[in-house]
Formats: sequence, structure tokens, C-alpha cells
Amino acid sequence: MTPTLILINPWIYDFALWSKPLGLLYLAGYLKQCGFNIHLIDCLDVHHPEMKADPSMKMPTRRAYGTGKYWRKRIRKPSPLSYIPRPYSRYGLSLKVFEEELNKIRGPAAILVTSLMTYWYPGVKEVIRLSKKIHPDIPVILGGIYARLCHNHAIQNSGADIVVTDNNSDSLLELLDEYGIPTPGPLPDPDRTPYPAFDLLTRITYICILTSTGCPYRCRYCASHYLDPDPTRRDPDEVLEEILYWHKGFGVRDFSFYDDALLIDSDNHIGVILERLARLHLNLRFHTPNALHVKEITPDIAVLMRRTGFRTIRLGLETSDFSIHRDLDNKITEGDFERAACRLLQAGFTSNQIGAYILIGLPGQSVVSVIDTINFVARTGTTPFLSEYSPIPHTFLWKEALSHSQYDLASEPLFHNNTLLPCWDDSQKEELPRLRKRVLEIRQNYRSSQR
Ligand code: SF4
Repeated sequence: MTPTLILINPWIYDFALWSKPLGLLYLAGYLKQCGFNIHLIDCLDVHHPEMKADPSMKMPTRRAYGTGKYWRKRIRKPSPLSYIPRPYSRYGLSLKVFEEELNKIRGPAAILVTSLMTYWYPGVKEVIRLSKKIHPDIPVILGGIYARLCHNHAIQNSGADIVVTDNNSDSLLELLDEYGIPTPGPLPDPDRTPYPAFDLLTRITYICILTSTGCPYRCRYCASHYLDPDPTRRDPDEVLEEILYWHKGFGVRDFSFYDDALLIDSDNHIGVILERLARLHLNLRFHTPNALHVKEITPDIAVLMRRTGFRTIRLGLETSDFSIHRDLDNKITEGDFERAACRLLQAGFTSNQIGAYILIGLPGQSVVSVIDTINFVARTGTTPFLSEYSPIPHTFLWKEALSHSQYDLASEPLFHNNTLLPCWDDSQKEELPRLRKRVLEIRQNYRSSQR
């Protein structure tokens, strides 16, 4: 009999959030090609038919391009966060619907659970607890970002039988084999990445596309070098085929690039993909929720992005204070951001479509420096987005974060939560509403001037 694997994307426990389990969907696509029966449970499924029947839950608001909020239930804060004056919630399916999903699957061979942000581990732990309650003798394997960044914590706290630290599909097959679960079919062609199994979701509203992994930069606050130490790049034809597969077969129009370094060497990579897409006149929409490198936005790339239907653009500015850049990253030099903004605006993008991520709460960063950056962004005609800094283990900035924080970051991942601004002191945190207000004013001004 073909073994059935349950793959689970856990709940998120947080103050506020945003996420999509692309890694798990890639794994599901790979395991399906290996011949396994796959049963995917996405705890963040906003379209689950049973959820509407629960009168205690309010339908999540949907937004443009298939994005939107999740089902949400306010819950008690874990004790380390008990004094934080903000509501804490479990995002996703109700416990009842999740248990029903688990009960539907008879005789699974193994349960594979993914994990994302380190401070979302309570969702991982709860998923594993319920999996073990319903399928007590089945091995539970935990992978994903939390498992890799906080390996010891995950071993001690998650309840999983195995916590894996790499994202190599072949070693997962070996591990399953050790548990007496042989791979049923031939292995997929190593030169072609199987598509992520978006078709296992209840509804496909948009597709996340990965044309490459890793990033050549080594920003001190980022874990890309640790999580993806060996950058890879897909063949442009293969990426184009995947976009056409989802568009023609599933009617998808919105595509979100999840690359860390989408525009690097664009003449030989994304430029080739976009040139071919532009010739097809498919009326698709593209989004870059991960920041683009501003240095790479040439006049040609800006025009090509406009011609192919990019709608949401996010740029990695972080700060306009170049003394901070010298310490933290080398991805941007003076004048780069203004040039990129100007090229995008000249190509026809509106101020609302071009967002600039501004890091806030870095160790040693002042409030004044953030205000200056917000005003700098406004002067370039782009939209500021505050991005609260989360200290991440295995980054170059981690040690500095430990010494700047009032929280015990090393032993409690809940304190990595960016909502806490863990590396700012209380007087700095009090300034947050003022910073947010300034950002809202700028956005409001853009909206008014477009009317
Ligand atoms: S450029 Fe972006 S992805 Fe690359 S290391 Fe810096 S923050 Fe990370």
C-alpha cells in the first residue's frame, strides 16, 4: 500500500502576522512525485469550508490580489509575554476543525510539520501535541526555519520525534526509510525542481514563485546566509513554464516572487524571464513582498517590470543613515535609493505601488534616525513601510542584539517577536505611535493626490 504522509503548516500564535508555507508546499510537490500519498493540513487555510460554520469566528477580511487576514481567536498570552498590553491570538483553523482534519486520515505513515518564525513555536508545539493525541504511534518530524535556527530549543520543547536541520529532500527520504517507510516510486529528475503543491490547498488565490535561493549579500541582521548557504538559480525557461502552468491550468493571475535576490544578474535571469513574459501579453500581476535590491533597478528593468504587470514593489532601504549601512550591510550606497525610486516612477509606477522597507528597533538605532528615514522616503515619492527588527539566532548581529535587549533572547524565542521591539528601550518604544502616524500621513497624502 502507498504510504500516506501528513504535512502540516501550523498555526501562528502572535500579536499580528503575515506568511505563506512555500517550503512545505515544495516538499509536498517533491514527495508527491516520489509516489507518496500526501495529505496537507494548512492551519492558515482561510477558505476551509468547515470554518464558516463556527459562530464564534468572524470571516477574515480579504484584500487585493488574493491576500488578506486569517481566522483569528484571541487566547491567553504565554507567561513570558503576560505583561505585554496587547491582545495575543491564535491565527488559523479552530482546534475542532484541525482535529477533524487529522481524524480523516487513516493510518498515516508519518507526520511532517514545518515551522517559520522562531517566536511562533507555540503553534508548532500545539500541532504536534494534537497530532500525537490522534495518531499516537506515528513519527512526527519537524523541519523549517524555527527548527533550524533554534534547534536545541525545538528538540527540548516541540514534542517532535525528530527535529531536522537541513532542507535536503534526499536526507528526508533516508530518514523516512529508517522509520520503515520506503520511497514508493522513482526519484524526480534532479535537474528539475518539482512545483510547490499549491493544488493541495483548498483554493489557489495566488502563487509564490521562487526563481532562485540565497543571496550574495551578508547583511548582519539577516539569516539568509545561514538558511540558504549555497545560492541556486533556476533555468529561466523552467520558471516561465511554471508561471504558464499555474496560469493556464488554474487560472492564476497573481504571482508573488519570494526570492531573496530576484534582480541579481538580471540580464541572464529575471530579465530573460520578464522579456519572454512581456511578449506573451498574459495580463498577469506580479508582486515582490521580499525587498528588491535597489542597486539592481536599472532603467531597463524598471520599464520591463512595468510592462509585465508588476503591481506591488518593495525596496530594501532599511535606513537613510549611511553610517548604519556601513556597519550593517553593503547592499546600498548613497544615491542608489533615489535613483531606483526615480526610475520606477519614470517607468509609470505610482508612489503607492513602490514601498520602502525601513528597519526599526535595531540595536543602537535612534528614533531620530528612523524619522529621518521616513522623511527621506517621502521626499523620493515612495511609500514607507516600517519593518520592526526581530533578533535572529545565527545572524552576525545576534550577539549585539543579546547585549542590547532587556529580554532573555537566548533562552526564550518568544522574545524574538518583532512586535516587542526587543532591542529598544521603553522610552524609544513610546515613540512608535508617532512614527506610525507619520507613515500614515504620507500614505494619506499619496491617496489624496491620486483622487
Ligand atoms: S540583501 Fe536582503 S536577503 Fe540579502 S542578506 Fe541582505 S537582507 Fe538578507
